[in-house]
Amino acid sequence: MERILLKNIDNPESHRLKEYERVGGYSSLRKVLEQMSPQDVIEEVKTSGLRGRGGAGFPTGMKWEFASRDPKFPKYLICNADEGEPGTFKDRPILERNPHLLIEGMVISAYALKAEIGYIYLRGEYPYAKTVLEEAIREAYEAGYLGDNILGRGVRFHLSVHQGAGAYICGEETALIESIEGKRGQPRIKPPFPVNVGAWGMPTVVNNVETLANVPYIVEIGGEEYKKIGSPECPGPKLYSVSCCVKRPGVYELPMGTTLREIIYEHAGGIRDGRQLKAVIPGGISTPVLTPDRIDCPMDFVSLPKYGSMLGSGAVMVLDDSVCMVKVTWRAMRFFEHESCGKCTPCREGTGWLRNILERLEGGMGRPGDIELLQDVAKSIQGKTFCPLGDGAASVVLSFVRNFPEEFEFHIKEKRCMVGEG
Ligand code: SF4
Repeated sequence: MERILLKNIDNPESHRLKEYERVGGYSSLRKVLEQMSPQDVIEEVKTSGLRGRGGAGFPTGMKWEFASRDPKFPKYLICNADEGEPGTFKDRPILERNPHLLIEGMVISAYALKAEIGYIYLRGEYPYAKTVLEEAIREAYEAGYLGDNILGRGVRFHLSVHQGAGAYICGEETALIESIEGKRGQPRIKPPFPVNVGAWGMPTVVNNVETLANVPYIVEIGGEEYKKIGSPECPGPKLYSVSCCVKRPGVYELPMGTTLREIIYEHAGGIRDGRQLKAVIPGGISTPVLTPDRIDCPMDFVSLPKYGSMLGSGAVMVLDDSVCMVKVTWRAMRFFEHESCGKCTPCREGTGWLRNILERLEGGMGRPGDIELLQDVAKSIQGKTFCPLGDGAASVVLSFVRNFPEEFEFHIKEKRCMVGEG
């Protein structure tokens, strides 16, 4: 498949406006402003079957329609670039190497929604991306792609970068909105949903970087053609970030629905140092772990639940037979405990309890009954928290214990790890 989202990124000037225009950039925006109504754009995106690439997989056109039908003004468009899920770095090449693709996608999307103000909510740990984005936005203003009268067509859209302060929870859309409003980044209760009551109480669409970067291509080739890429229920190209024990870690642009086996063995070069595959976390640390017998699973939103996991952000973390599963679970829980915003009790207290028990196991001080205790605490979190962070933390523990019980039992009985240092 030709590169669409990562087109031309090997060119050292790919982030500059001139280079982006040279390879056809902003022609979709021109087409939209000259030939299409806002509703036409929404219909095209609905036809394409594009689903949000941030993790939830919600149909993008439908989300836009909810916001566009709301009579309240102003409306806001926010790009979620708070890429904080461990293992996830798929948006980074777009932000750093192809920023005008994102800007073009945002201007087209804002036109469809009739939003005149937009923000890119950028991960705090991406300072270089901030520099690149701000320079690209400056170039876009100068060239008339942003501002009060875009390309002389009377369309208004202003865009700026809002940098986060390093909180994982601000990747959740309502916490992100709170943060943009200058408040503490904690999730809001839903409903109402941001499409109706979002930033400053106004209709707000929050879309992931990769989602918005798909929009110019959908406009270029049309929704019907776009639908032919990838799997029927989840069309389009997908960025997979592959990390940990593979020979060639990196970001791979492939048709949605490519199997885990192909991603790991054909694109990422297989397992490094001649070792054996032991486990795969397919969509970022919050998604349940898979064992090697499940790697023929197509990587899309519909197929992965049938194999007991989720696509999440498409962050494939590959673990070989030198890795201790107890240690991985403990480290994941340290992360969740640290990032819990503290708003609801099961997550605030439960992640700390889980970390405590796992630390005891990892340190050779596990007690009989600890595995049952881990499961009990995790089930007391699952489905009882305000936002998905709690569910993610619980599912990590439950899936690792379910798939690798012998490693947890070994830690308790032998007071050490069965794979050495891990
Ligand atoms: Fe905060 Fe955790 Fe509750 Fe989410 S689940 S609102 S992160 S305490």
